Amino acid sequence: MKIVHVASELYPYIKTGGLADAVAALAGVLADHDHEVSVFLPGYRAVVDHKDAAGAERKLRLRIEMGDQFLSGDVRVFSPRKNLKVYLICREEFFDRRAPYGNGERDFEDNSDRFIFFCKGVVETLRLADLQADVVHCHDWQAALLPLLLRESERRHRVTLALKTVFTIHNIAYQGLFPATTFARTNLPDELYHIDGLEYYSQVNYMKGGILFADRVTTVSPRYAREIQTPEFGCGLDGVAQTRADDIVGLLNGVDTAVWNPATDALLPATYSRADLRGKAVCRAELLKRGGFAPGFTGPVFGMICRFAEQKGVDLVLANKDFFLANDCRFVVLGAGDKRMEAEMRALATAAPDKVCLTAKLDEGMSHLIEAGSDFFVMPSLFEPCGLNQMYSQVYGTVPIVSRVGGLADTVADADEFPATGTGLMCEPNAASLRQALQRALGLFADRARYTAVQQRGMARDFSWEVAAAGYEQLYRESL
Ligand code: ADP
Repeated sequence: MKIVHVASELYPYIKTGGLADAVAALAGVLADHDHEVSVFLPGYRAVVDHKDAAGAERKLRLRIEMGDQFLSGDVRVFSPRKNLKVYLICREEFFDRRAPYGNGERDFEDNSDRFIFFCKGVVETLRLADLQADVVHCHDWQAALLPLLLRESERRHRVTLALKTVFTIHNIAYQGLFPATTFARTNLPDELYHIDGLEYYSQVNYMKGGILFADRVTTVSPRYAREIQTPEFGCGLDGVAQTRADDIVGLLNGVDTAVWNPATDALLPATYSRADLRGKAVCRAELLKRGGFAPGFTGPVFGMICRFAEQKGVDLVLANKDFFLANDCRFVVLGAGDKRMEAEMRALATAAPDKVCLTAKLDEGMSHLIEAGSDFFVMPSLFEPCGLNQMYSQVYGTVPIVSRVGGLADTVADADEFPATGTGLMCEPNAASLRQALQRALGLFADRARYTAVQQRGMARDFSWEVAAAGYEQLYRESL
């Protein structure tokens, strides 16, 4: 099949979260399966400057209609591997910036225009380069206008650009909600600014467009597919999601074993496997050293890696700071984002430098070291569409402590509740329940045989992308 992915992030070129990992892994497996795969990305500075893009071919000049203006841009393309092409929709004014969505304090004010331009750039490329896609697979709000824009272009130009469209919700909390005036920039027919179209309480909602107008809709875990149809998790789009109840499929993300495999991980000081865990002890000692602790510490080491955002339950952890102070343990945190959360975590690390350490930046190497060197991984998300780190943790022999929501509930079983099969510890998404889980972790760590059994079961689990990719292939075929 000719499969076109459209996303705002793609590992290793541009990443702020799991979206980048998921799109890269899925595109990679589909390319391995001999599909003809293209991924469209905005031409962000980080991508254009990446060594892989050095020889990129300038494929097209773009002239994109935005309301009553025309904006120019160009399309560059490179091929990082067999069967895979990466198309960059470039316009320096929009994408030649240090970060994809905002300046750290707030979102860029022209995000509405930036991602309309991106989606229209994709449509124009499909049309002018005559790519004839079987499936155009759009990811999250940044690509959510594409199904509508594609059909509109097909109508105007009397062509077929894609047989089917698929829209994947990686996180319904980020919707691309903009003022009503944005609508004119889409050049879509007026009747689409309507409750059955893009209008959402007198604003324009990009994600709503993806959910309503794609041929198929997916989410990244089965439980999240059900959750988003409820007021508790739907972030105001639960009613919209319900209208597609029959079409929404939850396909669990996997682990990209080319990047996340303790037996081959080049970012670790030592590799290891389920049969031989000596390398994990080396990683643990190195992690403790990097945290500023004695490398010979024998108590439990807790790790945490996440965007600092309400979703990730950082506040539940902060509410339990006395746990880390009162017990003989270490806590290594990697995360950045919300400034208040960063300041509070920094204050904890400063108050107890012998126990808690914070690295407040994006650090790929450190993220691998934490997954490998920790005994427990703390991930008490308030909601979690899929979540990757709880899977990485299991593969790396690090017992995850997770809340019972979304993809976390689909990928972890509690070791006390299921003594023969459990691979982690679970809590409800509140501070008191997390406290109990942390307390249970101490008990589990003290019982070496039981800890090892839980760890071994986690490492034996198969989270490979083959399963997910097969699910998407089947979905594409069915839709065609
Ligand atoms: P989300 O997409 O909501 O952020 P996921 O669990 O799906 O959450 O994916 C997060 C990804 O981002 C993981 O690969 C994780 O290791 C990575 N990550 C998050 N924060 C950092 C950081 N500060 N440094 C390096 N990697 C990070």
